[in-house]
Amino acid sequence: MSALRSLILAAADSPRLQRLGQKYGFRLGAARFVAGETLDDAVPVLRRLNDSGLCTNTTLLGEGVRNEAETRTVVAAYRGVLDRIRTEELRTNVALKLTHLGLSIDEELARRNVDELVEHAAQRDNFVRIDMEESRHVDATLRIYRRLREDGHGNVGAVLQAYLFRSEDDLAALLPLAPNLRIVKGAYLEPPDIAYPRKRDVDDAYVRLMETSLGGEGFTAVATHDETLIEHAISFADERGIPRERFQFQMLYGVRPRLQLDLVRRGFDVLVATPYGPEWYRYLMRRLAERPANLLFLLRNLFRG
Ligand SMILES: Cc1cc2nc3c(=O)[nH]c(=O)nc-3n(C[C@H](O)[C@H](O)[C@H](O)COP(=O)(O)OP(=O)(O)OC[C@H]3O[C@@H](n4cnc5c(N)ncnc54)[C@H](O)[C@@H]3O)c2cc1C
Repeated sequence: MSALRSLILAAADSPRLQRLGQKYGFRLGAARFVAGETLDDAVPVLRRLNDSGLCTNTTLLGEGVRNEAETRTVVAAYRGVLDRIRTEELRTNVALKLTHLGLSIDEELARRNVDELVEHAAQRDNFVRIDMEESRHVDATLRIYRRLREDGHGNVGAVLQAYLFRSEDDLAALLPLAPNLRIVKGAYLEPPDIAYPRKRDVDDAYVRLMETSLGGEGFTAVATHDETLIEHAISFADERGIPRERFQFQMLYGVRPRLQLDLVRRGFDVLVATPYGPEWYRYLMRRLAERPANLLFLLRNLFRG
């Protein structure tokens, strides 16, 4: 892993840098990756993406909550997001983080909160994706996903990270559920005893996970901007006769927008993950770590500013 990537990911956890970053706000260029600070900002962005043929998900950015009351505020906000998506008739679902719903406080609290949102989404024909966070949360996140599915919720999905050694076993254990899985490379700083440090190994693991998931009975979200992997998924699905309703490409708002539209033109389903919210700092830092060249983009904005 590059030293720069580690440095940026470490800065993502620095409260001092976070305060500084938030202060300079969208001027730094966060607007390229984040749809705005409020839901009212995000709605026209989601609509514009929908109008160009892309479906979307949205996330209220934020990860740390200190107590149960704060998690209830987050749940209320997501209920409002699902209601608004319905009234605005957007092709948008919701992706959320369990730490935002209290996972670091109490697993059962997070489970109850997400259960409520999945139910609220079901009543509005909508869907909730549970993002995957740092490795210390993987067991609890997968336990909660499994429990939701066993309780009969079909409108919920999870995420597996190719950089973790464990993910192939996790996938094998989930396959009997016909899971709805997003496959990603992985965005956090993880130690080499549990995660592949070399990009080539992560990419190879991604191919294995993607093929196994596509070959299963569930739904696969191929979430990457890596064109080689995208073309590999397309050929694999073609060869195996996997119908297009069984998979989707997913990319991030602000990243490879032309590629997103090219895939739509080729008849594929493409979802653009389009987050919003005032707590965008850590999200932005992860986007920088993925492509340190984005730092130049930000600095240019700063000096232009
Ligand atoms: C829809 C979606 C949901 C995600 N959810 C999760 C999650 O729940 N948990 C998690 O750990 N990770 C998540 N990620 C992040 C993921 O783990 C990777 O960090 C991220 O997608 C970059 O990897 P890549 O697959 O695009 O491949 P890379 O090999 O990193 O990139 C391939 C090419 O894509 C372009 N690119 C990639 N990232 C950027 C960027 N930030 N800015 C500009 N260009 C870029 C570059 O051209 C690069 O050469 C998600 C990613 C997507 C697309």
